[in-house]
Amino acid sequence: MSERTIFQKIIDREIPAPILYQDEHCAAFNDINPQAPVHVLIVPKKVIPRVGEATREDQATLGALLLAAGKVATLLGVSERTQGFRLVINHGRDAGETVPHLHVHLLAGRTLEWPPG
Ligand code: AMP
Repeated sequence: MSERTIFQKIIDREIPAPILYQDEHCAAFNDINPQAPVHVLIVPKKVIPRVGEATREDQATLGALLLAAGKVATLLGVSERTQGFRLVINHGRDAGETVPHLHVHLLAGRTLEWPPG
């Protein structure tokens, strides 16, 4: 069996991190190295290494991940169109992926540049 990811350990409460939101499919907690005033990770409880490796069986999990991201944005008060947030998924080296456990970055609280670097 492959080694458990750091995100599994957070979800299983082996590594302490305040859980901001969770449901049947996913959990959300603050990024340890925030890139914006709001930087939350939304992580599926089922380990999918990266989005391009998801399968048809993961469809419900993937949908739940986006729904959860929207809920977290509302909970944190950044979902108004006059403010806003960005969701980011990094897949692989060139995108800067560092943790091989699918996660959505939710960034908000400042003006975010486009295109990203
Ligand atoms: P990525 O580069 O897309 O794979 O994102 C991984 C993210 O996980 C990075 O933004 C890290 O700062 C974050 N991270 C790594 N370890 C932890 C941790 N223990 N708690 C919270 N966030 C973490």
